[in-house]
Amino acid sequence: MKGIINNPTTDPNKILPLTYPWARQHYKNGVANNWVPEEVPMQQDVELWKRQGIGALTPEERRMILYNLGFFSTAESLTANNLVLAIYRHVTNPECRQYLLRQAYEEAIHTDTFIYCGDTLGLNPDEIYNMYNQIPSIKEKDEFVVAMTQSVLDPNFSIRSPENIQRFVHDLIGFYVIMEGIFFYAGFAMMLALLRQNKMVGVGEQFQFILRDESVHLSFGSDLINAIVAENPGIWTPEFRQQITNDIRRGVDLEDAYAKDCLPRGILGLRADIIRQYLEYIADRRLERINLPKIYSMANPFPWMSEIIDLRKEKNFFETRVTEYQTGGNLKWD
Ligand code: MN
Ligand code: FE
Repeated sequence: MKGIINNPTTDPNKILPLTYPWARQHYKNGVANNWVPEEVPMQQDVELWKRQGIGALTPEERRMILYNLGFFSTAESLTANNLVLAIYRHVTNPECRQYLLRQAYEEAIHTDTFIYCGDTLGLNPDEIYNMYNQIPSIKEKDEFVVAMTQSVLDPNFSIRSPENIQRFVHDLIGFYVIMEGIFFYAGFAMMLALLRQNKMVGVGEQFQFILRDESVHLSFGSDLINAIVAENPGIWTPEFRQQITNDIRRGVDLEDAYAKDCLPRGILGLRADIIRQYLEYIADRRLERINLPKIYSMANPFPWMSEIIDLRKEKNFFETRVTEYQTGGNLKWD
């Protein structure tokens, strides 16, 4: 009997032989990007953050940095909780579970990254960790994801009927495609644009590592969604596909509102309307990745973002340790 979910013949303890080799490949890709926040030097960031007068960050840049630290500091824990409490329980296939454990570990690293950045810069945790309650554009993103992933968090939810398999796929799309695939990307573009101007280079490098991890999470999530749909083709109705497309469109609008709130007047080389174009470009890629037609047809205004995702770890500064990780697998990002 085949089946990535809902398979009574699956023994979750028996990983070999593999049924879904892509799950194992994503695991290896995750290992190949192994890192911890303490490996990134933060001295320049501390100096720049405290500097006043000539060469100091502008109020617009500070606002953008604080908003992104505020969004990510709680979003990483939200994704970790969803993963462990809602997704792991239902995905019984052992190689997928092995990947989910790796991803959960990476989310713990990401949560730790924002503790580390906040501590290093001397930020007030009461401010940063309350932004998801106090900043409407952050709150709306979090509430949208919580609403979209509600059924799988119900302890009595079981995926025995086609309706519930469809509900599960819907929630996976909310979690993987919209949260990790859209709601993180305006923040990535903003912080990496700053890095390209040699500002907050330590925080920027942390975001680079997170972006590479997240691109693997998104890829695993898309393969998981596609495998469930391939095994349960009846759930992929025209109405359901339309609903998913509408959800993704709504996700782009919420992320757009967040970017405008982060960047009300723009900063050097970056304006919220260009981020909107980038969001439309990536939303089309997310749709196509789960076999849905694109809806925006926007060209990529930030080709350097794809270069960062594709950059291999040995191009980063701590070259000595990279070879060990590289033996684990071949890095291929999409
Ligand atoms: Mn993460
Ligand atoms: Fe993630």
